[in-house]
Amino acid sequence: MASILLIEDDQRIRQSLTTRLAERGHDVEATARAMDGVQRAVEGRVDVVVLDLGLPDVDGADALQMIRAVSDVPVIVATARDDQNEIVRIFDAGADDYVIKPYSTDHLEARIRALLRRAASPEEIAAIVVGELTIDIEAHDASLAGTQLELSAKEFELLAYLAERPGKMISKRELLAAVWRQPYGGADKTVDVHLSWLRKKLGETAAEPRFIQTRRGIGVKLVDPES
Ligand code: CA
Repeated sequence: MASILLIEDDQRIRQSLTTRLAERGHDVEATARAMDGVQRAVEGRVDVVVLDLGLPDVDGADALQMIRAVSDVPVIVATARDDQNEIVRIFDAGADDYVIKPYSTDHLEARIRALLRRAASPEEIAAIVVGELTIDIEAHDASLAGTQLELSAKEFELLAYLAERPGKMISKRELLAAVWRQPYGGADKTVDVHLSWLRKKLGETAAEPRFIQTRRGIGVKLVDPES
């Protein structure tokens, strides 16, 4: 359960999210105005802030900077614009994560969980070791038996997502939502192709898997091949 502050001026979204998140056991406070939200956020009683970027009184990015000036509370920005400049602007303003509208309650909740996990144990997730594989989330580095792996951004994100959940079977749908930000599904092929590239860099194949174990129709998991 998390204490969530929702700053959203669209009454329909605000009410439905408040209801749905409360149904899942979260403690939700909601406001339509940026300045009310900033005030509540800096009072320090919330675990996470979900901030709409398009607000009537103050621009969402400015509101975010006001929060950041005085608080480290994790902030997820909700934006209607799915473009790289916008995303960069959001992170520059101090956001911890973002969701693209329209987003599902499931997707938002998953992002909140991930953020709170990071906030709770920054050291623990700084470097993850799975057998000879080391993944340093903060430094964005991965190495195998001491040799640095040359991974693309998506390959790294995919590996990191699996490594944060060692031994757990993850569905391709979840990977598409988390790594490719496609909460409503997409081509499984995208995941398959990246998995095969990642496997190649880890020195394994689908026929002779080591770290990456897949089960047809279920998903994929990262394991220590030596254990
Ligand atoms: Ca809005």
